[in-house]
Amino acid sequence: MSERLIYLDHAATTALDPRVLDAMLPYFTTEYGNASSIYTLGRHAMQAIDRAREQVAELLHARPTEIAFVGCGSESDNLAIKGMAFAAQKKGNHLITSSIEHHAVLHTCQYLERFGFKTTYLPVDSYGRVNPDDVARAITDQTVLVSIMYANNEIGTIEPIAEIGRICRAKKIPFHVDAVQAGGAIPLNVTELNVDLLSLSAHKFYGPKGMGILYVRQGMRLLPQLQGGSQERGRRAGTENVAGIVGTATALRLAQEEIPQITPRLTALRDRLIEGILTIPRSRLTGHPSERLPNNASFSFEGVEGESILLNLDLLGVAASTGSACTSGSVDPSHVLVALGLPPEWSHGSLRLTLGKENTNEDVETVITALPPIIEKLRGLGM
Ligand SMILES: *Cc1c(COP(=O)(O)O)cnc(C)c1O
Repeated sequence: MSERLIYLDHAATTALDPRVLDAMLPYFTTEYGNASSIYTLGRHAMQAIDRAREQVAELLHARPTEIAFVGCGSESDNLAIKGMAFAAQKKGNHLITSSIEHHAVLHTCQYLERFGFKTTYLPVDSYGRVNPDDVARAITDQTVLVSIMYANNEIGTIEPIAEIGRICRAKKIPFHVDAVQAGGAIPLNVTELNVDLLSLSAHKFYGPKGMGILYVRQGMRLLPQLQGGSQERGRRAGTENVAGIVGTATALRLAQEEIPQITPRLTALRDRLIEGILTIPRSRLTGHPSERLPNNASFSFEGVEGESILLNLDLLGVAASTGSACTSGSVDPSHVLVALGLPPEWSHGSLRLTLGKENTNEDVETVITALPPIIEKLRGLGM
């Protein structure tokens, strides 16, 4: 049993990078001004926000005026989808998304259905990929927004965003991308991707919790969802979280700059995990074999309950995640695993291991050694 926590749940959240904390600290204490105040202390805050906005814009190949700081990834998804839908209500009432989106997207579409909107939930193949031709076929003269995630949070599959973007651009349909899982792992160029709106969340790339980014291409009409002051160019009211904004920009810069060093290492650790864990009888990889996030290794084991695997790993100091959640006594597999077409005997036994920059070869070997007896024991117990 290891002394140290082996954290393999970086898709859920990450620890704040100490360099990000250092950048944030002054804005909690000495630089506490309100960015709307016109005296020097307030202007310092506004200057910090302006710098952060320029940094984020440069990283996304966007203009600073196209970047809005918001309260989390979920808020960014909500603002993009509700903001675009309500602004286009006179034009049409049709939304297109995929069946494997995060609940911040799916539940927002469902909410809009109460206001007369209709949603097409596109299927995915057995690897979790959306077919761009399906997007083209689903577009009608009523379509006001297409929203497809860059990379899936459970199975790590990367979607063909640039291709879908080309289709949307040709048909003049606004295209939103939930890039929350991609933000720390894949270069983000909104021009090359043909994306009109893009959502990010800072705590998924070693930034602070409670901070999100929404990129909004110039010319997009978006109805704000939070009324009050005119912060964020009228797109989101509320006194700016200066420390959070500075931390978000710093974290995104570090994450994007470090992709070339970190990706090969994470990919090697991921592939070793996959190789080691697939030696377990009746196990399979979920998600795409190659078009997947460099840090995501997700599996399914026949005839086991995911939550039981997690509890056993936790006893050994390993933090992981499952796509099946126990609701009112029965275990329901996630909508993502159901959409892949996994049979129930398999979809109940899912395990998601998501690596981060602090993980080591030793962490990976510990899990590869620990897991087979756990699965064997649970199968023996009928769990
Ligand atoms: C985590 C996550 C979100 C939500 O971000 P929060 O900042 O936690 O609200 C949205 N979409 C995806 C794909 C995520 O992984």
